[in-house]
Amino acid sequence: MSDTSQSAALFERARAVTPGGVNSPVRAFRGVGGTPRFVASAKGAWLTDVDGTRYVDLISSWGPMILGHAHPDVLDAVAQTASRGFSFGTPSENEVALAEEIVARVEPLEQVRLVSSGTEATMSALRLARGATGRSAVVKFAGCYHGHVDALLAHAGSGVATFALPDSAGVPASAAGETIVLPYNDLAAVEAAFAERGEEIAAVITEAAAGNMGVVPPAPGFTEGLRRITAAHGALLISDEVMTGFRCSPSGWYGHETRAGGEHPGGYPSGAPDLFTFGKVMGGGFPAAAFGGRADLMAHLAPDGPVYQAGTLSGNPVATAAGLATLRGCTPSLYDHLAEVSQTIGAAASDALTQAGVPHTLQRASSMFSVFFTDGPVERYSDAQGQDTAAFGRFFHAMLDAGVHLPPSAYESWFVSGAHDDEAVETVLAALPGAARAAAAG
Ligand SMILES: *Cc1c(COP(=O)(O)O)cnc(C)c1O
Repeated sequence: MSDTSQSAALFERARAVTPGGVNSPVRAFRGVGGTPRFVASAKGAWLTDVDGTRYVDLISSWGPMILGHAHPDVLDAVAQTASRGFSFGTPSENEVALAEEIVARVEPLEQVRLVSSGTEATMSALRLARGATGRSAVVKFAGCYHGHVDALLAHAGSGVATFALPDSAGVPASAAGETIVLPYNDLAAVEAAFAERGEEIAAVITEAAAGNMGVVPPAPGFTEGLRRITAAHGALLISDEVMTGFRCSPSGWYGHETRAGGEHPGGYPSGAPDLFTFGKVMGGGFPAAAFGGRADLMAHLAPDGPVYQAGTLSGNPVATAAGLATLRGCTPSLYDHLAEVSQTIGAAASDALTQAGVPHTLQRASSMFSVFFTDGPVERYSDAQGQDTAAFGRFFHAMLDAGVHLPPSAYESWFVSGAHDDEAVETVLAALPGAARAAAAG
């Protein structure tokens, strides 16, 4: 086992001045135990911690680092842009160029508004949906994460049209009370909720392919069914592509599911989602996110319309330069590479766990994949909750000791990048059999 004394010392300092020692809870290793590694630097597919230990990175900053860390083109764009100033509080060209790039990639989009985080994107899309429809209720699916927006933190639905209890302290019942939580991949539950309260529902928000309960792709026909039901009741469909956007294809999950030869080549028969949200990849590791849709819908936003939305750092020149350079690196050959590497690592993980006799299920959504430590299939959150998280914890730590940093939770996607080369992949493959035996040894 490698030395972790510098990380442990930093964690102690951090805990004195920051709740739990972290600025985003899953980083604290509560799901797996032990000391979170404080990273000193990252390059390509590798993280180096403050004790000097190197790890193959399968977190990729939870998705953004699709080209690998400190990619030279992105570094160049950031350095050149930053040398001309950091933030102006006036319009600037990079924000136009990034919006053009996004609109060009995702066919149903006509306009986007740039914001600084995925949370802001979903929060603003929800406000826009409520402003445009004059309705206040929203449907979300259990196990889908849309950032820490009050109305979207509710997970605990107990059936059709049951108004959820708040999942987090500090979320008023009035905010959560407007949220109807339904099981993912269950169109009958959506039909029933709309039959009961259809006239109150402003929008259905869904992860385009769920990646925040582990990877759970939409069942065939699910997205199309949501489109059909929402349209029939005058509600909007919001596709949250913060994780899947520009990762699952050049145009995100929408492009993956509607590509020529896919389930719905050329688009969903009942039409595209009304609104999309993006983040992660489109910021290239910097705070940039977006929401967008048809121009007539986006016209409800200030300054054209009455729905207010703003941001001091929205469209920040450095963040948008990083995002633009990253998207320009998202070429067809990059997606081929992601597919190949994710296939290799996923299959090897599954083989190793099978050999060791560990019950598990490998699931994929394009190049996003995760291993559930339970027999599958996992179609919704309640299936994922049956996992043996202690087995995952043993697996995680054995991988870490062998130089591979997985996401420190059994409920997260594993992310690869364009920089995951043969050396990185070989390191992962070499670590898997021992980690699978550790998982079995509970
Ligand atoms: C990460 C994520 C968010 C929140 O984005 P932040 O930038 O962390 O606020 C929202 N929706 C989905 C699907 C995500 O994966």
